[in-house]
Amino acid sequence: MKLMAAVMAAAVTAGAAFANPPNPKAEGDMFGVKRVAGTPNFAKPPAGAEVLFDGTPASAEANWVAEKPKEKGGQIWPVKDGVWIDTATDLLTKKEYGSVKLHLEWRVPQDRVAAGQKGANSGIIFMPKKGWYEVQILESHSNLTNTYSDGMAGAIYQRSTPACNPALPKGEWQSYDITFLAPKFKADGTVERKPTFTVVFNGVTVQDAVEIDGSTLKRTATLSPHPVKQPIKLQYHNDPLEFRNIWIQALGD
Ligand code: MG
Repeated sequence: MKLMAAVMAAAVTAGAAFANPPNPKAEGDMFGVKRVAGTPNFAKPPAGAEVLFDGTPASAEANWVAEKPKEKGGQIWPVKDGVWIDTATDLLTKKEYGSVKLHLEWRVPQDRVAAGQKGANSGIIFMPKKGWYEVQILESHSNLTNTYSDGMAGAIYQRSTPACNPALPKGEWQSYDITFLAPKFKADGTVERKPTFTVVFNGVTVQDAVEIDGSTLKRTATLSPHPVKQPIKLQYHNDPLEFRNIWIQALGD
C-alpha cells in the first residue's frame, strides 16, 4: 500500500504526461515494468547532511578518491560547468559509512547511444570492499532491448527489478534517494539483518524496504560476514554518465 500510495502521489504531482515527449521507440512498458511519470527531487540538502559533491572540484577532491589512482586516467573525475563526468576509474568516498540515506542526481548525456548494459551504465555500490550491493544507473527510458529488468535503472542489480519505471529521457537530470540499511551479522556469522534498500527514483518509490540475499555481482551469491562500515563507490563502467548534487546522512545503525 505504501508503494502504491507513493506511485499515485507522484503521478498526481507530475500529471499524466512526461516532462518531454517520449521517444516513440520508448512507448510502452519495459519488461512489463509499468512506466510512470516521476518528478525528480532537486531539493537542497537537509540540515546536517554531508555534501559529497556540490558542483565544485573542491567538493569532489575533499570527499572522494580514485580507487586505482595509478592506472591511466586514474584521477578524480573532471568537473565541467558544475557537472561531474564519470571518467576512467571507480571513485570511493574517503569516509566509511554503514546505514545511510544518499541523495544523488544523475544524467545520461544527450548524445549517448545506449545498447542494453552498454553505453550508459554506472551505479552506486554500497560495501564495495566486501559485500558489493549495487543500485544500478542505466539509460532506461528508451533502452529497451538486450538487457534485463533487474539490470535497469532503479534496480538493485541482479537482485530486484524496480516496481515501476519513472526513468526520464537522455539529457534530463534524474534523482535517486536511497536508504540503505547495512547488513548485521551475529557473532556466530549468521545474518541478523540483510542489506535492505528503499530507492526513490525521480520521486517514485521503486524499491520499498527490499532485502537482498547477497552480493549483486552474482545472482546466486549468499551473505557472509564483512565489515559493515565501508566507503561508497561510484562506478565507472566505460560510460561518461554525469552527476551533480550528492549528499548523505548517516543513520543510527
Ligand atoms: Mg552499473
